[in-house]
Amino acid sequence: MARLIILGPPGSGKGTQAEYIARHFSIPAISTGDLFRAHVKGRTELGAEAGKYMDKGEFVPDHVTTGMLRLRLQDGDAAAGFLLDGYPRNAAQVLALDELLSSGRHAVDVVIALTVGDDELAARMLRRAKEQGRSDDTESVIKRRLELYRDETHAVVTSYTERGLLVSVDGTGEREAITAAAIAAVQAALERGSVAGPGRD
Ligand code: ADP
Repeated sequence: MARLIILGPPGSGKGTQAEYIARHFSIPAISTGDLFRAHVKGRTELGAEAGKYMDKGEFVPDHVTTGMLRLRLQDGDAAAGFLLDGYPRNAAQVLALDELLSSGRHAVDVVIALTVGDDELAARMLRRAKEQGRSDDTESVIKRRLELYRDETHAVVTSYTERGLLVSVDGTGEREAITAAAIAAVQAALERGSVAGPGRD
């Protein structure tokens, strides 16, 4: 049972790492970006709304994102824990998540912060644009997403650091080595938590 969050700038590889880390802990990786892309592809009303923001690199409005996540967390597979990828992304979403989780059985256990330098990030994203053709991987939109990450998501890092939940993991190097480091960091934090903190549930 683990309730995890992974934070990292666009291009940090957090989506890939999320899949492997979640598999290790037998929990679903829940990516708000992937959920939105599925809605866009399926031409749902929510997809039409979200797509307008995504194509500009802007955040989708909080009530849309949080509403979508609330529904996803109600699925049976999330009852035994989850790894959130792409949420929360600003201070308001941190509070919204607190509320979502307090009405259920969960609190957050560990927050993984994946760190990668800016030049490496931009290079990776432009490479991905060529390989995968994501419509929001153009130079100006990438710039905006990085800017928003720095301006808005910093508050999320601060907030979880203050709660003593953050573990930093270097996001450069081999994929396998990064996964192993992240799993080890989470494991250590979970063990510390269970020793030091009764009544987390
Ligand atoms: P990345 O982190 O690489 O930019 P994501 O796949 O996580 O990509 O997100 C893609 C887009 O989906 C974002 O640029 C934003 O428009 C939207 N999005 C995803 N998660 C959120 C969120 N928590 N709040 C607002 N918008 C979001």
